[in-house]
Order: sequence, then C-alpha cells, then structure tokens
Amino acid sequence: MTEEIKTDICVIGAGSAGLTLAAAASAFDVPTVLIENGRMGGDCLNYGCVPSKALIAAARHVAHLREASAFGVNAGSADVDFAGVHAHIRSVIAAIAPNDSQARFTGLGVRVIRERASFQDRRTVIAGETRISARRFVIATGSSPQIPEIEGLEGIDYLTNETLFDLTKLPTHLVVIGGGPVGMEMAQAFRRLGSEVSLVERGRVLSHDDPELADHVRRRLVAEGVALHEETEILRVARRGRYGVRVHVKKADGTEEAVDGTQILVATGRRPNVGRLDLDKAGVEFDETGIKVGANLRTGNRRVYAVGDVTGALNFTHWAGYEAGLLLRPLLFRIGARPKRDLLPWVTYTDPELAHAGLTLAEAERRHGHVRVLRWPVAENDRARAERQTEGLIRLVTTRRGRLLGVDIVARNAGEMIAPYALALSKRLNVRDMMGMILPYPTVSEVGKRAATSFYVPVPNKAKALARFLRRFG
Ligand SMILES: Cc1cc2nc3c(=O)[nH]c(=O)nc-3n(C[C@H](O)[C@H](O)[C@H](O)COP(=O)(O)OP(=O)(O)OC[C@H]3O[C@@H](n4cnc5c(N)ncnc54)[C@H](O)[C@@H]3O)c2cc1C
Repeated sequence: MTEEIKTDICVIGAGSAGLTLAAAASAFDVPTVLIENGRMGGDCLNYGCVPSKALIAAARHVAHLREASAFGVNAGSADVDFAGVHAHIRSVIAAIAPNDSQARFTGLGVRVIRERASFQDRRTVIAGETRISARRFVIATGSSPQIPEIEGLEGIDYLTNETLFDLTKLPTHLVVIGGGPVGMEMAQAFRRLGSEVSLVERGRVLSHDDPELADHVRRRLVAEGVALHEETEILRVARRGRYGVRVHVKKADGTEEAVDGTQILVATGRRPNVGRLDLDKAGVEFDETGIKVGANLRTGNRRVYAVGDVTGALNFTHWAGYEAGLLLRPLLFRIGARPKRDLLPWVTYTDPELAHAGLTLAEAERRHGHVRVLRWPVAENDRARAERQTEGLIRLVTTRRGRLLGVDIVARNAGEMIAPYALALSKRLNVRDMMGMILPYPTVSEVGKRAATSFYVPVPNKAKALARFLRRFG
C-alpha cells in the first residue's frame, strides 16, 4: 500500500446516493472519502435517468410534429438525424456532469479516489493502492442490469441501459425484453423516432402500477405502433441472417411464434452491485436481492451502512438521495433514521406519463378497510381540451373522513402534477385542503381539485338541511 487514510466517513460509490451523502457530510466539515470505480454520477447521470429523459424529449418533438396538423399547423413530417439525437443526449449529460464531478467534490473538501473498493476486514477498505480506515462506511454501489437466462442470448450483442445511449444509428427494429418503466419508456421513444419496436413481457406491462391507469399508457403505445406481446415467455433467441435477431416466444395460449428484429434491448430489472466488495470480510449480510439493512440503514456490521439501489429496495434516484439525506441523522447526530416508504412518489416517463404517490389502492384497502376513491377524467378539463391532450385521469384514494392516502395520475405531465400531492401526503392533508386551494385557470392540475370536490357529491343531507334551515332567516 502506498497510502493509508484515516477518515470519519468512507462512501463507496459516487452515484445519486453516494454523492448526496458526501456533499452533505462535507458541508458539516466531516472528513469524507468517496470511492468510485466507474463514472462520477453513477447510473442516473450516465446510463439511466438523464440520457433516457433526453432521448424521450427528442422523441416527444416528433410526436408534437405529428400532432401539429390538428391545430391547423402544417409542420411537415419529422426527419430524424439519430446522430444528432445522440449528440443532444451527450450534451445534456455533459451539462449536468460538473455537479457530480471529481473536481467539484474535491473542491468541497471530499477526498475522491477513482478505484474499485473492497473490504479488507470489518474496519478497513482497500481501493487500489490506498487503505482506508473509517469510523463509518457507507455502501452506495448501486445496481446493474439483470440479464435473464435465455437460451442464445449470450451469443448476441444485446443492448442494455449501459450501451443503449451510445448508439449513433437508429435501430431498424428494436425488440425490447421487459415491460417495466424502462422498457416501456424506451419502446415508445424509439418508436417515435422511427424504429419498428416489439416488446415482449412475460406478465402484464407496468405491473407495479395500477392496471386501470397503466392501461392508458399501454393503449397509447399500441396506437403508436409498438407491437406488445404480453403474457409471453421467451423460449430462445438466435441470430437471423447477417444483421437480424429472432426471438422465439410462447404465448399464454401455448402457441409459439417468432418475433424478428435487428437489435435486442434487455430491460428486465436490476441486480444490486454486491459482488467484488468482499462483504463477507466486513461481516455485512447480503444476497442476490441486495444488502440487508436494519434500523437506521445499518448493516450487520455496526460501522457499515448501505443506501440506494444496492439495498435492492426501491430503484429510484430520489429514493437513493432521500435515504442518503436521512442517513446523516445517525451518522452525524446519533439520532434515528426511519425511511418513510409510504410517501415515495414515482413516475414512468411515457406519454402519457404515469405518476403515483402514497399508498396504492390495494395497500390503502388492506390497511384502512373502507376507503373512498375519487376520480376525475382529464377529458373534462378545459386546458387539456385546448391542448388536445385529453387522455388520462386522476384518482385520489382517501380514508372515509377524506384524509389523502394515495394519488395516481395518468396524463401528459403527470410527473409535474404529482408534486403537490407528495407534499399533501407528507403533511397528512385532507381533500378539504385540496378543495380550498385556489388554482390558476386553465391548468390541467384543476382535475385534482375536481376529484377532491367530488368527495362531497352528492351533497350530504345534513348540509342540505342546514342550508334549508338558514334560509328561514331571510
Ligand atoms: C434506463 C434507466 C432510467 C432510469 N430513470 C430513472 C428516473 O427517471 N427517475 C429515477 O428516480 N430513477 C431512474 N432510474 C433509477 C436510478 O438510475 C437509480 O435508482 C439510481 O441511479 C440509484 O442510485 P445509487 O446511488 O444507488 O446507485 P448508482 O447511481 O448506480 O451509483 C453507484 C456507483 O457505485 C459505483 N461502484 C459500484 N461498485 C463499486 C466499487 N466496488 N467500488 C467503487 N465504486 C463502485 C458504480 O460505478 C456507480 O457509479 C433509472 C435507471 C435506469 C437504468
């Protein structure tokens, strides 16, 4: 070893969780070491949220052009230069990268080491030629694409989120394996940009979301020309000719068929990065679903904590950042940190977007028994009509007394519309609070207020009787 470092906090992984933690710890002048063996910024910046949303934004422009004629605007047809789309994605990453850079973190006083970290024992980590002993370690090593065991797949140069955004040429026919958020977002985006797209899912698409709302997205993708194969098992994959691939599938009714394409994108979920860390030497318990954490996000080793995707819990950047922020409490102030999972919002960035916050309907019914479900269709909204974006609905789930438990929205900008509900849920607000809110007209957000108001429809007899009684006094 050429260097020995003693520090307060040693963070392994400079993705959403690790960076949040290192930046916050350094703000409190706590000596911190941050170890990263790949790109600063982790999955979200380099292979996840940022490039995928940049691609979706490009694809949305194509959709806008197609919609333009309904507004009396003749915009012609889109001519996609995919190398230009690639350059756009790279420039968006480059614009955000300085926030996550080694230079910025070094400037904040964090010692950044660009090596692979592994535990030597319960109190020591090795990173290249450096040995680090710390009062506390935080494992924030994220996740990698889960590759399913499919006969023939290994012999094919398939794409994952780690290679997809390097493409400079539009795939002629993309076969997406997996109908979760990533698969659905990418299927729609590539279809809009001009690829033929087939998507194969062994269950139903967007299975983590409510079927009633997810169906709006499902139908839109089909209408835009994505060939969806749900309830379909993949039997094997093979090359087809010089440039093609063939995916042999079995439908729910037992029939077998071939789905042909030119490239395969594997989007079948995530695998926590627990390998090569020598966690056994640290006494940290883990399995293929992730590192086990207990109270205060602590592992079996009281010096070691884990946050973000590596715990296998909830694979979202905002969750990783939230957990990392919470972890400061036990790390710096010796107070408890209990993540409030019930408050987690999430969004699938298809068009329409699908957003959720709080309890799902099924969870709400399980925990509260009788619940009220309030719906309002986007089609009834004036702004949505003006914009010709009338697809979707909002659904509020409340207790019998009107306390908000969960919210689902499917609408073009559902991801933006969910924000006040995330706050309302964390403050345990009631539909009355939402009704009392003055919203600007015309905005699509008004659908939420209309749904809240429907809590009092029909008007309760008691309220009618009171109005009748008061009329007597002139
Ligand atoms: C295509 C795609 C789109 C997504 N879109 C969204 C979205 O829109 N919104 C959202 O909230 N989430 C999204 N996600 C999920 C989001 O990217 C992850 O939840 C988030 O990046 C997790 O952060 P993390 O800090 O736990 O891990 P990561 O960001 O993966 O960071 C972990 C870091 O640890 C490093 N590392 C691993 N092992 C070691 C080691 N032994 N030594 C040193 N360094 C190591 C890795 O190189 C990596 O940089 C998306 C994911 C994908 C794949």
